[in-house]
Amino acid sequence: MSLADAAASKTTSAIRLDGVEKRFGDHLVLKRISLEVQPGQVVALIGPSGAGKSTLLRCINLLERPTAGTITVDGVTVHADHEIKERDLAALRSRVGMVFQSFNLFPHMTALRNITLPQQRVLGRSKAEAEARARALLSRVGLADKADQYPARCSGGQQQRIAIARALALDPKVMLFDEPTSALDPEVGLEVLKVMRELADEGMTMAVVTHEMQFARDVSDHLVVMGDGDIIEEGDPHQIFADPQQARTRQFLRAVL
Ligand code: ADP
Ligand code: MG
Repeated sequence: MSLADAAASKTTSAIRLDGVEKRFGDHLVLKRISLEVQPGQVVALIGPSGAGKSTLLRCINLLERPTAGTITVDGVTVHADHEIKERDLAALRSRVGMVFQSFNLFPHMTALRNITLPQQRVLGRSKAEAEARARALLSRVGLADKADQYPARCSGGQQQRIAIARALALDPKVMLFDEPTSALDPEVGLEVLKVMRELADEGMTMAVVTHEMQFARDVSDHLVVMGDGDIIEEGDPHQIFADPQQARTRQFLRAVL
């Protein structure tokens, strides 16, 4: 790589947060967080309940508006202290796919329709095109046979994999996962973690809030430990698990491992 290429790649993080702060009234929930995720990188966010992990993730696609700081996703930048233009908001959101703990599928639509509808509405794809993509993605998450099934007839793990396929159908540049397996029985959670691992192996840029310490250690490239609205410690996952530098990280890992 030439120096010029190196300089260019430095400025093209997939996700970049600069001094992101979030207050709910008097409650300071994120304390000027800065974080960079490179294209193809998987970042795991761990930490105790109430640390601000979900809020941080929700700020990345502006489901929560930060009260200070800057967010850049795939070259689209939004500043908290400027009025956010509708066009920038749409551009940023179109680059981000999100998967929640509660799958949030439309209950009155089949798996296939759950995946085709957003493509038609958001991207203006034809029905045929959207269906082809949906079927390919259902196969990819191991659910080719569930296309015509309603969510209630699918297990939690299947529903979550449908939700992942739905997010991927919109061709996001980055995927955000907020405790995608927390509502699932462990064996079923494994199916979902397997799909996430494959996605990571294929080079998807991912930020994953998780209680799955094994996933955080073995799949993520970068680990961020959060506590009390701040990053307590971040770095190489294996190194942090083997030798945490901060007392609060040690305390958290002792409690969950
Ligand atoms: P985590 O995901 O790490 O458990 P959250 O980001 O959900 O943490 O929450 C961090 C803090 O922000 C908590 O104290 C929570 O009560 C508070 N919080 C989150 N969402 C809101 C909201 N919409 N209004 C007020 N307080 C909130
Ligand atoms: Mg949370």
